[in-house]
Amino acid sequence: MDEQVKVVRLEQHGGPEVMKVVRAPVGPLAADEVRIRQKAAGLNFIDIYCRTGMYPNPLPHGLGFEAAGVVEAVGAEVKHLRIGDRVAYGQSPIGAYAQLRNVPAHRVVVIPDSVSFDEAAALMLKGLTVRYLFRQTFRLEGTETILFHAAAGGVGLIACQWARALGVKLIGTASTPEKAALARQHGAWEVIDTSREDIVQRVNELTNGQKVPVVYDGVGKSTWEQSLDCLRPRGMMVSFGNASGSVEGVDLAQLASKGSLYVTRPTVSTHVATMEAMQSAAAELFEMVVSGKIRISIGQRYAIEDVGEAHRALEGRQTTGATVLTLD
Ligand code: NDP
Repeated sequence: MDEQVKVVRLEQHGGPEVMKVVRAPVGPLAADEVRIRQKAAGLNFIDIYCRTGMYPNPLPHGLGFEAAGVVEAVGAEVKHLRIGDRVAYGQSPIGAYAQLRNVPAHRVVVIPDSVSFDEAAALMLKGLTVRYLFRQTFRLEGTETILFHAAAGGVGLIACQWARALGVKLIGTASTPEKAALARQHGAWEVIDTSREDIVQRVNELTNGQKVPVVYDGVGKSTWEQSLDCLRPRGMMVSFGNASGSVEGVDLAQLASKGSLYVTRPTVSTHVATMEAMQSAAAELFEMVVSGKIRISIGQRYAIEDVGEAHRALEGRQTTGATVLTLD
């Protein structure tokens, strides 16, 4: 009989209460898949968009895109993975909050011995995101001063460290003095405490009126206008998330009047669409970790049964760094 494992399942979209932990079989393994005995799954803000239905998926469905564990079975067509490999992924089909699951092998990478399962689960999606934001969307050279919102968050604390490693001066934003201090400890050059400071005014002061060439904005609706006002002429607005709600009704004329600004709305999936892109992006990311340039900061861990509490904390701005669900 098929083993029954704990998975998070949604029958409807809504608040944290719609997530149910149920026992379910894993199902047959396809030729291009591996079966992974998962140790930890990473929580990401995108999981909240999927739970609420802001990013719709056909119901019923699982949740989560990122996890780490041990390969337990390998499909006939899979060449790069073996039973017993320690692996992780950051861009699977939805459903990573599960103790055991089948995952398309081209999404899966082997993790270095020195990286724990918790760290890998916390790192993949968020780290791959920082990698493409800094190396592809607006390629940082090391001389820039940049603005990065939610600098004490999961993506944010990795960004602080990656910027420091590149020699880039990262101005972060954070909503409490404690979060601001944490971002500084992780390498932010300066952090604007949004509970008492004005973002545009502080960016002007910190850059001697020069403003910044690029803003990385995962907050969305509530920071959109301020982000545009922090850009110098021909600057790049990278709007990569909606933690405060979606940006709507973009006025192109505004981009002209604020100085021929560029705007992009990138996604990590576009940047790791092929197996080759995923493997090389993950190799670059793990090199940053193994060399000690990036240390994964797991701010909170929850058992799978406490997934509701985990979502409430992330959504309610109570978390710092990465959040993981422990699965074994
Ligand atoms: P975080 O850990 O950064 O949590 C979100 C943070 O956003 C909060 O901690 C909070 O920090 C800030 N925030 C500001 N306003 C609000 C609000 N109204 N409600 C909730 N939070 C708010 O999350 P992640 O690291 O998981 O993700 C960060 C962003 O990156 C998200 O928008 C996510 O969707 C995006 N993302 C995009 C990807 C892409 O490829 N496009 C891939 C991965 C992530 P504070 O209290 O300090 O303001």
